[in-house]
Amino acid sequence: MLKIKNLTCGYESGFFLKDITFDVGDGELMGIIGPNGSGKSTLLRAIGRVLKPRRGEILLKGKEIGRMKFRELARRISVVSQSPEQIMLNFTVKEYVLLGRTPYRKRFQILESKTDDRIVAEAMSLTDVAYLAERGFGELSGGEKQRAIIARALAQEPELLLLDEPTTHLDIGHQVEILDLVKKLNREKNLTVIVVLHDLNLASLYCNHLLLLKEGKIHSMGSPEEILTYSVIEEVYKTPVVVEKSPVSFRPLICLVPGKEMGRDT
Ligand code: ADP
Ligand code: MG
Repeated sequence: MLKIKNLTCGYESGFFLKDITFDVGDGELMGIIGPNGSGKSTLLRAIGRVLKPRRGEILLKGKEIGRMKFRELARRISVVSQSPEQIMLNFTVKEYVLLGRTPYRKRFQILESKTDDRIVAEAMSLTDVAYLAERGFGELSGGEKQRAIIARALAQEPELLLLDEPTTHLDIGHQVEILDLVKKLNREKNLTVIVVLHDLNLASLYCNHLLLLKEGKIHSMGSPEEILTYSVIEEVYKTPVVVEKSPVSFRPLICLVPGKEMGRDT
């Protein structure tokens, strides 16, 4: 589905992702993890073509994304970015989700088509926001907003969905709700998903593959069992942890260790 070869990109400020190479298979649910500032959002921005590579290639099903017209790119890749969307507060939920259909509009087309209506209804039903259709986007709670944002992303009918920390401002109930939804879309609609998560336990629970970034480079890639080990986490995050097996998922469960337990001053 997605092939990234020797990607180098970054900012004038001096931060660069360096020589990133990896593949994402069709139907995969891949997690990107790493400490703050390690380049997770930067990598998503490069895949969503917000940021231009300095070197290297990003291929979606064999086609360089830099060569796609904007409309083609927007029909194939949906991005749910980290910053909460402030601009759309005066839209109803339905109007907001309809924005996802923009890349399918014909020239001079003002009203939505029957197909647009059908796809928007389907996206709202999958994400359980249909009952909020006429409510203002600005009135929604955090979890409802996030579901509406994902509905908009789905209305684009993408092949690849990119999510940047979709659960960050949510309580645990809504974290599970959003990631259950992402997993359902991945499984039932065979949607390929790349999700940035900073919570290692959520990454462990929901992702089949993890890519761990450290200071702009790939530190390691593999299954949660391979990546989420005591030694890897301590090396990359510079903090001790205890890794157990979750009694619920049988996947790695990362327990934080307060300084006091380690004989450090708190
Ligand atoms: P993460 O998502 O892993 O926390 P980011 O990819 O957002 O990290 O940021 C990586 C580094 O790039 C940080 O040091 C950050 O300060 C810098 N950075 C992020 N966005 C910009 C930008 N728009 N311009 C300049 N530097 C940026
Ligand atoms: Mg980020």
